[in-house]
Amino acid sequence: MRSLLVAVLVAGLLAQPAAVQQALSPTEQQLAAHADGSRAEAEQLLERLVNINSGTMNLDGVKRVGDVLAAEFKTLGFRTTWVDGAAFKRAGHLIAERDGKGPRLLLIGHLDTVFEPDSPFQKFQRITADAARGPGIIDMKGGDVVILYALKALAAAKALDGVAITVVMTGDEEDPGEPLTLARQALLDAGKAADIAIGFENGNNNPANANISRRGFTGWTLRVKGMAAHSSQVFTESVGAGAIYELSRILNGFYAGLSKEPLLSLNPGLTLGGTTVEFNAAQSRGTAFGKTNVVAEHAIVTGDLRGISSEQVETTKKTMHGVVAANLARTSAELVFDDSYPPMAPIDGYWRD
Ligand SMILES: [Zn+2]
Repeated sequence: MRSLLVAVLVAGLLAQPAAVQQALSPTEQQLAAHADGSRAEAEQLLERLVNINSGTMNLDGVKRVGDVLAAEFKTLGFRTTWVDGAAFKRAGHLIAERDGKGPRLLLIGHLDTVFEPDSPFQKFQRITADAARGPGIIDMKGGDVVILYALKALAAAKALDGVAITVVMTGDEEDPGEPLTLARQALLDAGKAADIAIGFENGNNNPANANISRRGFTGWTLRVKGMAAHSSQVFTESVGAGAIYELSRILNGFYAGLSKEPLLSLNPGLTLGGTTVEFNAAQSRGTAFGKTNVVAEHAIVTGDLRGISSEQVETTKKTMHGVVAANLARTSAELVFDDSYPPMAPIDGYWRD
């Protein structure tokens, strides 16, 4: 979605500082030299791909980008398949495969962009010798070109022979087709058959970095009930603390117990409290009514929870339930979780610095 240095993208996979290059094996040096030597050619292909509009709903454009890449993969001895997207109302996906022994690699890209034909942002535009801007350069035609030229470098170094590789480039990453189970079937099948998967979408704009894990996302809603009464009776045995004090205690408990947990985040994003509370979850908005001289009867807070592993998410949920359960006098609270995408924890042994 943003422009960035083309050179950085294209050379990024294999570019190394001079000091590191000395430590490369002869084959690795060959790969790096090939990446450097094919930069102009790779940039030309990127320009060609960027100039084909492939907004997700431009089905013909997405397919044309897939056709250009399929032809390239064929020259490297890959079998290519176009998975037709009619069943999920999108263009479809490109799959390129090679057989071999040893672990199967899955390389993931996507063909579509967020820039439909009616967008004013349509063409590749060179800014300097090292920089260009254009729709989908970063997200992620640049990454697709990196996949292809990494494979070309391996082929030139005779390092591709016998390696089992599947490339999946989806045509609906930006706006997935429906039903989702059909739209993602090809990618899921390829994932199940693979031992190692690498996605080539830009991470943090620094090609020296790769993400080796991803935090998951779980939404949560906490509803608190207190006893309505005149404010002069708050703290008394018969009226207790009220819903807003209880909600505050719980949030403070979350903060005290969980804010130092490594790689965990827990964020309350919206809260309402008072005598009456109306919350519209779908629109993530609501209204509250209350008076300064009335003990609050209702309070609600919604937030998210992002953890690095399923274990961390489960432990965090337990901690949160523990905090919630220790209710102040004459209050009650209910905490509900809504798991969305799961965490992908880092796996030991797959990576070296
Ligand atoms: Zn993307």
